[in-house]
Amino acid sequence: MGDCSQEKLHNIRPAAGSGLPSPGGRRFVIQKHAARRLHYDLRLEIGGGLVSWAMPKGLSTTPTVKRLAIQTENNPMPYADFEGMIPQGKYGAATGMLWDMGRYRNLRAVPRKGKRRRSMADSLRQGWLEGKKLHGGYALKRLAKEGKPQWLAVKMKDSKADARRDPLSIAFDSVLTGRSLREIARQSHDDCG
Ligand code: MN
Repeated sequence: MGDCSQEKLHNIRPAAGSGLPSPGGRRFVIQKHAARRLHYDLRLEIGGGLVSWAMPKGLSTTPTVKRLAIQTENNPMPYADFEGMIPQGKYGAATGMLWDMGRYRNLRAVPRKGKRRRSMADSLRQGWLEGKKLHGGYALKRLAKEGKPQWLAVKMKDSKADARRDPLSIAFDSVLTGRSLREIARQSHDDCG
């Protein structure tokens, strides 16, 4: 099974225009990851790769509920298209689902005085997500300069903020294939014989 899944990982078609910002914004994905502890991986296209955070509870839809986001390793762009089984023995081995995907826009598009280019940190501060399940402005705040790279993800106050509408508790399945985690796991297993 491991070899089969690994092959799939390498056969993923690279995202169109990989490495270049797309006209409608950059890509983002949220992968639901059934690792030892179920969590959500938020990945943003930055500098031609995916900057990633593991979120134990995912993103909220209301400014009053802040969510922890632990920055993890960066991933190559093709990872944004991955849904299936990550082979045993690999980092993050378990079933991964494309829970949400879309584009995001930086809400801090104007460079600060004296800075010709925005740093990654500036770029990350506030962004507008246009996903299939999640929409609106989110702010990412670094909690501490030292130690584990922990961040807080906060829904900004805008027209898309809505405490009553929480996709995490109603839209469980893949945004790409409509499959549940269980179906993805079973089909990955079957594909490999
Ligand atoms: Mn993960």
